[in-house]
Amino acid sequence: MSEVAAKKEEKPRKFQAIRGTRDLLPPDTALWNRVEQTAHEVFGTFGFGEIRPPIFEPTELFARAVGGETDIVSKEMYTFEDRPLDIKQPEFLSQYSDYLQLVQSLYRKGEIPQTEENQKTIENFSEWHEKFAATEGKGSGITQVQFENFENALYRMVFWCERVHLGPQVSLRPEATASVCRAYIEHNMQQLPQPVKLYYMGPMFRRERPQKGRYRQFYQIGAEILGGPDAPAIDAELIEMLMTFFDKCGLQGTELSINSIGHAADNCRRGYVAKLREELLKVKDKLGADSQRRIETNPLRVLDSKLEHEQAIIATLPHIADHLCDECKTHYAAVKHELELRGVIYRENWRLVRGLDYYMRTTFEITAQGLGSQNAVCGGGRYDGLVELLGGPPTKGIGFAIGEDRLILSLQESGKGAAPQGRDVYIAWMGERAYATAIRAAKDLRNAGFRVELPPTELKFGKALERASKLGSRFALILGDNEVQSGEWTLKNLATSEQQKLTEQALLEYLHGL
Ligand code: ATP
Ligand code: MG
Repeated sequence: MSEVAAKKEEKPRKFQAIRGTRDLLPPDTALWNRVEQTAHEVFGTFGFGEIRPPIFEPTELFARAVGGETDIVSKEMYTFEDRPLDIKQPEFLSQYSDYLQLVQSLYRKGEIPQTEENQKTIENFSEWHEKFAATEGKGSGITQVQFENFENALYRMVFWCERVHLGPQVSLRPEATASVCRAYIEHNMQQLPQPVKLYYMGPMFRRERPQKGRYRQFYQIGAEILGGPDAPAIDAELIEMLMTFFDKCGLQGTELSINSIGHAADNCRRGYVAKLREELLKVKDKLGADSQRRIETNPLRVLDSKLEHEQAIIATLPHIADHLCDECKTHYAAVKHELELRGVIYRENWRLVRGLDYYMRTTFEITAQGLGSQNAVCGGGRYDGLVELLGGPPTKGIGFAIGEDRLILSLQESGKGAAPQGRDVYIAWMGERAYATAIRAAKDLRNAGFRVELPPTELKFGKALERASKLGSRFALILGDNEVQSGEWTLKNLATSEQQKLTEQALLEYLHGL
């Protein structure tokens, strides 16, 4: 069989969306649009403006803002090298020498990343290139040992050569708070009236184990308030906005939990963490491996544990509320009071914590029904020092991120999903003269805002009406020679089968009047 024939026989590969990603399709996308439109409207009424940061940013930004030790940064990010330069890597052994020189000079000029890691890599590359050059070209009759040296040097030279970073490491964003803070600094937003209120929506990427309500590409709608004071009314109004949004979306069974995690000082959270660690050490043997590890690395995270057998133990641990400093205590009390003033119903959950140092005071989470174990639709809280950590001026901040996939899932579970979009009018036409009229009618009806289906080829009336029903059309507009001649069009109500004759003008008026 010839190669061409073989190719023909071979069945083309069928592609599927990558695990953890999915297509959002009609009619669901109508619901997504409705939710997003509601966010634009509600957030707008609270004085927020939309920011659309890029989908990828330097890996370093997320490592700093989200934290290098978090699961998100340490194992869930989609990271790649962004090569801005047109550098050709060597294909033949004779090209390594020139390539090494090129890389060394680009590094000196700062045209490839001047990181410590890259410097080490280039040094190793150079060292093994030298050893390789020394073993090369010994001609025939080399000994076994010489051959092994040559092979070893070659292998290591190629190894290090391939590891030189030709461009900076970038990552698909796993969340957007880091980008918003970066943008706040980059665009000198501290010079605008404070605080600056921004919201965003769009896809986020985390390499997690996919399951219901957990995807690798998922969508968040979030907001941040940056700058200005950390007045408790700001926290309360942000939460009020969230609850208004969920309410307008029709989300059922929402529960708001709040907590205060104080601030990172010895007389506040640090003191509490020390006490917590002390208590945890006493019960260490009864805890699982993850929690045991966290006693050292991040005792607060033990409170997050969902393990059944740890629950009774955790219930006996000290509460942070009893260890807050006076300012944080006052702030927390005021946030609760401000929520009450706004009629926002909340529950206190002393186990609601955040693992990073710059999170402080108010933290909150909202759960909704119909989501199984992934029932958190929103997480948020106050942070201090994040903008500074990214090189900006001292700036207060608070924000939240809503999991839009879960929000949609919950709406669908409670019957708030979108119905398939039918057509208002299906135009059943026959004959060439009728076709020209049909095109004009479709244009006029669409301009008037109706959903219109105009079949591209002529169909017998019976067949056309069948299609019209299948598409969920409310009316069929029947256009044949008779209709065109008389100027009286036939409109059939597909639910009742009633027909009426109308002039073009009367038809528009009739449809508008419905
Ligand atoms: P979880 O505990 O559910 O993993 P998280 O603490 O990682 O959530 P955040 O980083 O605070 O979540 O993100 C805010 C919201 O984004 C979550 O409450 C959730 O609704 C949603 N979310 C987070 N990760 C995913 C994911 N992989 N797929 C779908 N939604 C997600
Ligand atoms: Mg998570």
